[in-house]
Amino acid sequence: MRVFELAREVNISNQEVIAKLRELGIDVTNHMSSVDEGQARKVKLAFAPQDDGPKANKDERIRRTVIRRRVVKKTEAEEAAEAAEAEAANAAVAPKLAEPAAPTDSTAEAAPASEEAATEAPVRKRMGARVVDKIAPPPQSTVAQPERPKPAEDGEKKPKRVVSKRMYRPSKAEEQTLAKIRQARQKKKGPSSGSASDTLPTKAEKRKIKIEETISVGDLAKSMSVKSGEVIKKFIEMGMLVTINQAVDPETAAVIAAEYGYEIDHVGFQETDYLPATAAQTEATQLSTRPPIVTVMGHVDHGKTSILDAIRKTKVAAGEAGGITQHIGAYQVQTAKGPVTFIDTPGHAAFTAMRARGAQLTDIVVLVVAADDGVMPQTIEAIQHAQAAKVPIVVAVNKCDLPQAQPDRIRQQLTEYQIIPEAWGGENMFVNVSALTGSGIDELLETLALQSEVLELKADAQGQASGIIVEGRLDRGRGAVATTIVLNGVLKPGDIVVCGTSYGRVRAILSDTGATIAEAGPSMPVETLGLNEVPQAGETFSVVKSEKIAREITENRERKIRERELAQQSKVSLENVFQKIQEGDVKDLQVVVKSDVQGSAEAVVQALKAVSDSDSNIRVRVVSSGVGAITENDVNLASASGAILIGFNTRPDGKATRLAQEYGVAISVYSIIYELIDDVKAALQGLLAPEIKEESRGWARVLEIFPIKGTGSVAGSKVESGYFKVGHRVRLVRDGQVLYDGKIANLKRFKDDVNQVDTGLECGMLLENFNKAKVGDELECYETVQVKRVLGNLT
Ligand code: GDP
Ligand code: MG
Repeated sequence: MRVFELAREVNISNQEVIAKLRELGIDVTNHMSSVDEGQARKVKLAFAPQDDGPKANKDERIRRTVIRRRVVKKTEAEEAAEAAEAEAANAAVAPKLAEPAAPTDSTAEAAPASEEAATEAPVRKRMGARVVDKIAPPPQSTVAQPERPKPAEDGEKKPKRVVSKRMYRPSKAEEQTLAKIRQARQKKKGPSSGSASDTLPTKAEKRKIKIEETISVGDLAKSMSVKSGEVIKKFIEMGMLVTINQAVDPETAAVIAAEYGYEIDHVGFQETDYLPATAAQTEATQLSTRPPIVTVMGHVDHGKTSILDAIRKTKVAAGEAGGITQHIGAYQVQTAKGPVTFIDTPGHAAFTAMRARGAQLTDIVVLVVAADDGVMPQTIEAIQHAQAAKVPIVVAVNKCDLPQAQPDRIRQQLTEYQIIPEAWGGENMFVNVSALTGSGIDELLETLALQSEVLELKADAQGQASGIIVEGRLDRGRGAVATTIVLNGVLKPGDIVVCGTSYGRVRAILSDTGATIAEAGPSMPVETLGLNEVPQAGETFSVVKSEKIAREITENRERKIRERELAQQSKVSLENVFQKIQEGDVKDLQVVVKSDVQGSAEAVVQALKAVSDSDSNIRVRVVSSGVGAITENDVNLASASGAILIGFNTRPDGKATRLAQEYGVAISVYSIIYELIDDVKAALQGLLAPEIKEESRGWARVLEIFPIKGTGSVAGSKVESGYFKVGHRVRLVRDGQVLYDGKIANLKRFKDDVNQVDTGLECGMLLENFNKAKVGDELECYETVQVKRVLGNLT
């Protein structure tokens, strides 16, 4: 017998049992150590005097059965009593008190109230429904949630987690609010509803336990008014050997808590509590107008750089190359209508790089089109990007100095892309310019200022600053230099800035002309010195109140990154269980079984036990077995217990599949039991053969068909998600039917052959030996990969 089994039997923590064993002179190393019958007996005996464990357990079981029965069979008398209670209380509700319970909130707030029925019930209901009114109801309503700290609690170090449901007596006002909530619920339920499902806790009604970073097993048990031994047993059932003082993370706690109808509310360090408000979060009265931030886009050689140069002319003495001024990624110019900020990296690459990081820095896109050339591939791409980002487009028709310039032809061409001049009844402003002569540049600036007025761009010009990194670089003399644009608030030297996982104290702020300045307000592009690492373009930065907070935020971010990586690595699957066993990481193969009917679930469990018994080295441990689809709950359970999920004649639903992917939980599905057993055996012996698996890479839709002489027809398509790549396989789906499954023969962007086309972009696709694609068809790009065998037939 192993120590933990013994511990479980006597319902004492492993550590205590180990301590006791050592006290008795029995040398054990840990909970996995073995003890013989005699030793076990000694321990049992040693714990016998105060051994109320098993007995208490039994009581607890009985109690819980009673609860269950009581809850399910909520009698009419109880219903009536409740209704009467609600009625009576409602009559007493002062209008003021009644107000705060908005109907939508009330459902959520009523959670404790109805939940209370689930476990509190026996306390009062055992006494009979008739006396319900006489006993002060347990806590409920927002002001009296179970986790509410109670001063009267018995010397608890962390009052936050203390749950004192039985001792708590709500005040009159609370009772009234409560009654009101109850009545609202009653109404919502309708008079006829008194079924079991109404009284059983539903997801929204679950009671909450607040956890900061971690919670000890003991505290968790206490929070649920359950004996620690009970909870430890639950952990063991899930294959986790814990002690009463062991801290568990919120995720794990959530799985255990769910068993008792509780939810975990992770109230730990929330960086948002410390980050400055965004403009959207700031009171409107505190906001003032901010200058627009403009990005210039367009086809190569249409004059983006020249236009930016022409605009900057007044500020920068020399050109970009070999310039005497240092390069800064953004600058601001004054116009008659106020300042305008330009991002000095033309092209959509920079624009999308920003967007990929979730930062939308651009308020207005200037689309440069050369009047002598017209709309070109990158013009279209720029339009697509701007439109996707819902950023308004101002068109600069450039090179109007040239004799062959046809500015109106550009306007005409652009209508095809829903870019229509205001003069023609559209919404886009157009300006004819020449970067060469400088004509129209002032008008362009004014137009931008005007467009900006339409946008009503606002920011708080006073608060703690936050914004976006335009670019970062390492300067030999000055360290990390970041071109930053403040989006909200004001940045000052001495501010503590957090940016990704780095932070620092702002040492100096330089304007776009290189002058040292005292502060930078909204939309102002500046160089910031003092970060301890070079930040990436598109990253957001935030000023926080102290270095301590900055450290906490970055540490927290780092920890999250690490945890995520770790979580990915450590998950067990049938494909790696052998290796993990070899490495000593895993002792047992934990399995969560789901199946179509109870009978087959039992059969699977029996079969797995047989496998386990046949080999003394390895044990298969069934963490849980149940009936029905594989749900998120199963995935959570499997994740927390390091188990794999096996479905027998049942499959995961969509949510469960996604969650399993996220957590890296392996799901294997079978319909033939001996295949399942063979796979498990093979997995345990490291014998799973590699498997060919297919992985989806992207989806596209056919928008247009171009017949090409000699080659067939090219499907003009738009990639809606993922990517398409030459060499990958493609499936053509029409009305749910797969009409083609083969290879991409050729992939084109405009006239060029390309290797890959990403989300949001259009392309011409030639399918090998297939030219019957139609507009509206869907294409899925996928790849077949050889993977070390993953069990089952899920893809
Ligand atoms: P970008 O690739 O879009 O940045 O284009 P550039 O600014 O590098 O300009 C490409 C070429 O067009 C250069 O040779 C410029 O001198 C020329 N160019 C730019 N703007 C004008 C203009 O308004 N008129 C004329 N005639 N040429 C221009
Ligand atoms: Mg250029």
